[in-house]
Amino acid sequence: MKGNLFVVSSPSGAGKSSLISALLAKHTDMKVSVSHTTRAPRPGEIDGQHYHFTDVDSFKERIQKNEFYEWAEVFGNYYGTSKSAINDQLEQGIDVFLDIDWQGAQQMRKLVPNLITLFILPPSRQELESRLNKRGQDSQEVIAGRMAQAQSEMSHYKEYDFVMINDDFEQTLSHFEQIVLAHRLKTANQQSKFADLINELLAN
Ligand code: 5GP
Repeated sequence: MKGNLFVVSSPSGAGKSSLISALLAKHTDMKVSVSHTTRAPRPGEIDGQHYHFTDVDSFKERIQKNEFYEWAEVFGNYYGTSKSAINDQLEQGIDVFLDIDWQGAQQMRKLVPNLITLFILPPSRQELESRLNKRGQDSQEVIAGRMAQAQSEMSHYKEYDFVMINDDFEQTLSHFEQIVLAHRLKTANQQSKFADLINELLAN
């Protein structure tokens, strides 16, 4: 594959989606994978753009058909990364970001040897709680449930290649970008991306 694959995980409210969006806004050759989910759309979420929204039966059918690279149950809903969501883009040399949880990251590590994984932590527990409240799209019950889940999600940070504390957004974005660009330039990745050029340059 010519493109590189990155996994980004964090507890809800640590700023993961905003960081990915900001990075993609700066680079046209980077895309985020659109997952399938059985969760109901939040206000403003668009089918096919934020998620492919689906029902449980269709989701299970896709599992049976082996259409997912990985899937997991998160907060009582199913989420999965379909093979078709990322294969075409990687083939075109586009770097693809997976915004998935630790369970998905574990599955992807087994499939992709040169996968790069990043974990984003909030600057404090209090700040995480306040960010979840400000989002204003979920009920208090859902927010309380997510706070309880956040700690268990965060306990997996040490399985990741990189950990960023999202205190200052611009600084975290800069660190994120540097990690991604440095990984791109690794010899093995450049070799597969620029195979034709390298062959031409080294031909007798
Ligand atoms: P949300 O419902 O807030 O959009 O997402 C809840 C959690 O599910 C987040 O941690 C998000 O990263 C994770 N998630 C989203 N899509 C996928 C996926 O395709 N696979 C896995 N394993 N987790 C996902």
